[in-house]
Amino acid sequence: MIAPLMPVYNRANLAFEKGEGAYLYSTDGKIYLDFSAGIAVNAFGHAHPYLVKALHEQAQKVWHVSNSVRIPGAERLAQRLCDITFADTVFFNNSGSEAWECGVKTIRKYFTHIGQPQKTRFIVFEGCFHGRSMTGIAAAKTEKMAGGFGPLIDMFDQVAWGDLDAVRKAITPETACIHIEVVQGEGGMRAGSKEFIQGLRKLCDEHGLLLFFDEIQCGMGRTGKLFAYEWMDVVPDVVCAAKGIGGGFPLGACLASEKAAAGMNHGTHGSTYGGNPLAMAVGNAVLDLMLKPEFLAQVNRVGAYMWQKFDELIAEFPAFFDGHRGKGLMQGLRCINADDNLKLVAKLRENGLLSVAASGHVVRFLPPLIIEEKHVDEAVVIIKRTVTEYIQAKEAA
Ligand SMILES: *Cc1c(COP(=O)(O)O)cnc(C)c1O
Repeated sequence: MIAPLMPVYNRANLAFEKGEGAYLYSTDGKIYLDFSAGIAVNAFGHAHPYLVKALHEQAQKVWHVSNSVRIPGAERLAQRLCDITFADTVFFNNSGSEAWECGVKTIRKYFTHIGQPQKTRFIVFEGCFHGRSMTGIAAAKTEKMAGGFGPLIDMFDQVAWGDLDAVRKAITPETACIHIEVVQGEGGMRAGSKEFIQGLRKLCDEHGLLLFFDEIQCGMGRTGKLFAYEWMDVVPDVVCAAKGIGGGFPLGACLASEKAAAGMNHGTHGSTYGGNPLAMAVGNAVLDLMLKPEFLAQVNRVGAYMWQKFDELIAEFPAFFDGHRGKGLMQGLRCINADDNLKLVAKLRENGLLSVAASGHVVRFLPPLIIEEKHVDEAVVIIKRTVTEYIQAKEAA
């Protein structure tokens, strides 16, 4: 008999009843150090008083109105995002997939708007993850993501990660856009090099294409800049954000330049809940915290500390880990053996540390952005103990 909750996840038998900062408390009374942050979502950890207050205050006023009227919190958040990024305009929605879809639609509309409707195709990268919508799985192309859901929308040309020459060769008169996660999440925590990302910008300029970044996972402070593209000295045309932008409240945003959004006029897009007062109250509160001068400095400082500690871990367990990837507080350890990452995530959880698996044998660590060095030390103790136990159990078997 099918479970009432559709059984698409392989869930751990674990539930949490409260959280505080970087810690979660399970219903059976155990404490967990959360280095998953609900997959890069809880940027300020759990139950941050400033975010709780923002949500609570708004909840007593108005939850929802339709987008046929002005929503002051949305106007304010859009203005603030435009002030601090490349963007001239923002569309709000409720999830990463929706923010991404809005980016895809914006770009498609741009080319019809400028009289080049033949430009419909997007160049994307192997291992990409852009959500589970029908369009998102068409970009991913893998059996795991797309199997059984065909026919898929045919508008994505996938090339190898980091291969500028392959991108150049994939450009045709139908190409509209180059699209990439500046730091890949699900695909294995690979960070694009500055040279590569700048090369993509150059190709876009040479061929009249738009450059679209998926910063749903790597954006909003995660890598130590508000957006990861800021490390690259490039200016994108469209960026989608979600996850950390709501600190745990469902919120996504599609940011675009005036040029790229030229076709998005009245009636071209919409969302019932997008930009609702509750989400906007929390989104503005998240930004208040992120724009404090010490915030990104702390992410960079603790991220660098974590990098050093993880390098030491790899040196200590050379037969288990063979690589270290990512940026800021988005780091992955690569296991030598396939599936060891999945097993390690489960064992770490048993020992009180939450992490996330990714492709390419990688264990992802995505802690709340408010963690300090002592949290990294605590995580490293658990990882050391867990890997030691794991290797011993394997040898005994
Ligand atoms: C999580 C994620 C998405 C999808 O976001 P949802 O909120 O699950 O729809 C898309 N792209 C990237 C890079 C992501 O990490």
